[in-house]
Amino acid sequence: MPEEKLIFEKVVDKSALTDGITIPLAYHDMMYSHLSRSLEHGESMPIQITMNGINYTVQLRNQGFDTRKFNHKDILQIRYSRNSPFATALRKVFNRTSERVEQHAETRTSRERLIIPAKEQEYIMFYAVTGEQSVMLDPVTNGDISQEMDQLARFPEMQIEEMLSGDETAGYDEKMRLTKIRRMNHAIGDSLKQLYGYRCQICGAYIGEAYASRVIHAHHIDYFSRSMNNDASNIMIVCPNHHAIIHDRNPEFNEKDKTYRYPNGYVEGLALNKHL
Ligand SMILES: [Zn+2]
Ligand SMILES: [Zn+2]
Repeated sequence: MPEEKLIFEKVVDKSALTDGITIPLAYHDMMYSHLSRSLEHGESMPIQITMNGINYTVQLRNQGFDTRKFNHKDILQIRYSRNSPFATALRKVFNRTSERVEQHAETRTSRERLIIPAKEQEYIMFYAVTGEQSVMLDPVTNGDISQEMDQLARFPEMQIEEMLSGDETAGYDEKMRLTKIRRMNHAIGDSLKQLYGYRCQICGAYIGEAYASRVIHAHHIDYFSRSMNNDASNIMIVCPNHHAIIHDRNPEFNEKDKTYRYPNGYVEGLALNKHL
């Protein structure tokens, strides 16, 4: 099997089901290097996306904007029309989010942004397949997650994280089918660990350095067993010491200033943060 590398991950939203997917800035280079070319402002190119064994042609577009007027960064998007085979296939695969979007459009509050609770989120995983110019899309539906969550319910949180992010399959029942979330979690964890150079986001230490070891953990800020939230925005890279302390004391994470407050009053911020 060819090797797959995660390009980026995205929570399925209304836009993805109708007209396009914006690629997070941190992943533009990854996308360009996989395609062996980049795009100027206003430039587009066709790309192939494979989903469930079917190939779709869509446009990759670097949105043009007046750089004299606007100072923002590049907006790189995968574009398609509402009636394209790709959009139709996405609505079928992600029927749960699709229904939710439709319901939302019918309500009086439809002008407000649709917020999907973490437990109901569905995910698009984009993988680069080596040796191929196309991108592979692995859909992770809410059904996939809840099915696999049922098998995890009996384990403590830290063990769940270990099972999901580790390379080892030892230590838990081999018969468990954690294919979807395990692959997803592993891929996101790995890309974030690389992003931080195997350093702890809390203390900044690269504890494996002297040993040429890459030991570092991927922690779910809102516990995965509770939130089922596997988006990168809910994952923090921490050293094993900080990880153990977090699970021992259950500090509260303040989203605003990105600090942990411990039950004894101790407050600790992040030494490193590129994605939260
Ligand atoms: Zn640490
Ligand atoms: Zn954890």
